[in-house]
Amino acid sequence: MAAMLQPQIILLKEGTDTAQGKAQVVSNINACTAVADSVRSTLGPRGMDKLIHDDKGNTTISNDGATIMKLLDIVHPAAKILVDIAKSQDSEVGDGTTTVVLLAGEFLKEAKPFIEDGVHSQNLIRSYRTASRLAIDKIKELAVSIEGKSLEEKKTLLARCAATTLSSKLIGGEKEFFASMVVDAVLAIGIDDRLNLIGIKKVPGGNMRDSFLVNGVAFKKTFSYAGFEQQPKKFVKPKILLLNIELELKSEKENAEIRLSDPSQYQSIVDAEWNIIYDKLDKCVQSGAKIVLSRLAIGDLGTQYFADRDIFCAGRVTEEDLQRVAAATGGTVQTSVNNVIDEVLGSCELFEERQVGNERFNIFSGCPSGQTATIVLRGGSDQFIDEAERSLHDAIMIVRRAVKNSTVVAGGGAIDMEISRYLRQHARTIAGKSQLFINSYAKALEVIPRQLCDNAGFDATDVLNKLRQKHASGEGANYGVDINTGGIADSFANFVWEPSVVKINAINAATEAACLILSVDETVKNPKSESAQGEAAASAMAGRGRGPPFGGRGGRGMRRR
Ligand code: ADP
Ligand code: MG
Repeated sequence: MAAMLQPQIILLKEGTDTAQGKAQVVSNINACTAVADSVRSTLGPRGMDKLIHDDKGNTTISNDGATIMKLLDIVHPAAKILVDIAKSQDSEVGDGTTTVVLLAGEFLKEAKPFIEDGVHSQNLIRSYRTASRLAIDKIKELAVSIEGKSLEEKKTLLARCAATTLSSKLIGGEKEFFASMVVDAVLAIGIDDRLNLIGIKKVPGGNMRDSFLVNGVAFKKTFSYAGFEQQPKKFVKPKILLLNIELELKSEKENAEIRLSDPSQYQSIVDAEWNIIYDKLDKCVQSGAKIVLSRLAIGDLGTQYFADRDIFCAGRVTEEDLQRVAAATGGTVQTSVNNVIDEVLGSCELFEERQVGNERFNIFSGCPSGQTATIVLRGGSDQFIDEAERSLHDAIMIVRRAVKNSTVVAGGGAIDMEISRYLRQHARTIAGKSQLFINSYAKALEVIPRQLCDNAGFDATDVLNKLRQKHASGEGANYGVDINTGGIADSFANFVWEPSVVKINAINAATEAACLILSVDETVKNPKSESAQGEAAASAMAGRGRGPPFGGRGGRGMRRR
């Protein structure tokens, strides 16, 4: 009784919102599960796409976990961690973004009953970490190297990895076509690490099969002045001058103060201005270049001047394109036209201005250093091409990964089932509570094959039972979901391959995220930082049922099933 009369100790400022303890962990887990639910249905070749539109009227159709998560604009502080791991998976390895979110969500879901029963988070975290280490070692052990094959063989193998990535996307119907295009593009740029050397240009209209690969650079015709039509549009082995200066008649009096004592002197200034520009143009011509590109404007005077001398020019080329032309043709961008020596000029086998759909494209092919490639994408609508670009980006990243550390594992849930089996077996050798936790971790890994089945409309329980039995028999390590028949099949033999680094990274990141969320048992909101958004976030976090985890949408608004 005496204790009740004691004055309350006030530690934090009035208005501070705190939530702590078991309830807090559970509420964070619920938020993360809701996030995982929102991307669940996009996994795998039969996964659905999401159409996300914002209040500005932008619509995006995507199957890519990272893209969807970014666009969802999640405000819940704990659930944001899942957005971060999807993003980091995207930038680290490029693929497996849905996988990583699903795994993290499932690890947490499996942990929830333990937390509710009063298990200390740290015990779970320790076991999860051990399990993840064991899983990764197992993946490394199961990975098959594609090193030491001939170029042709390697190309086919890489194309298969790319095709697996593309099979879950909108352009999956043409996966072979695009897979070989991606492989050619990646092999063209060699070992260079700069991704921007592969350009993707989008031209709405046409069929996606009209997309093509340029072994070099291609960009849309820039703004051009009169006289352009008279310029030649095709050159064999031209020299290319790259500039970063303006070739326009400028009134120099704006750059300098000029004082005249006699009106007749005015003409001399006008003449001087003309001389300056003619001098510049003449120097370009003298350099022997047949193509002049500039990042800045090339005016009508210049355009006509070059046209009269059978030279092609383009002004206002974007920085990115100009750099890629420089890398491809071996030229150097000049900031002055004085003393243009031969070494700074680029060259290529063929330059052509070609019609692609409604656009005219400047295409440089057969470039000597061969370090660039451009994919020109065609397709019905803007949204379609945008999604196609994102899918190709995934595929490009995968092929690049596979080229670098060339080991692959069987996809279609096969590797996940195998690790799951291995962990269950290992768990049996452990005495103590850890056995249960590792078992739960193993069970969580099954979410991948289960979701692949669910999304394809198969009976997941049935397929999973078959898979468990096959993997337990000891010779079915490569068996995964057969997406065509609804049964099980040897994924490796069917060329459903994934670079092992995708799986390793996904398991690592998902485990870390899950452990991080489990280790948070209190959130404190400072009253000062109160803002409309912050309030919604904190109230959802505190689990008081006021704000849904997604700003105003309802936690499961995105869910289909
Ligand atoms: P993520 O964003 O995680 O890459 P995806 O939608 O690309 O998600 O789906 C990837 C999953 O689909 C992987 O587990 C992969 O093994 C599986 N998968 C891809 N192609 C096939 C296929 N033809 N048959 C079975 N599973 C496949
Ligand atoms: Mg993928």
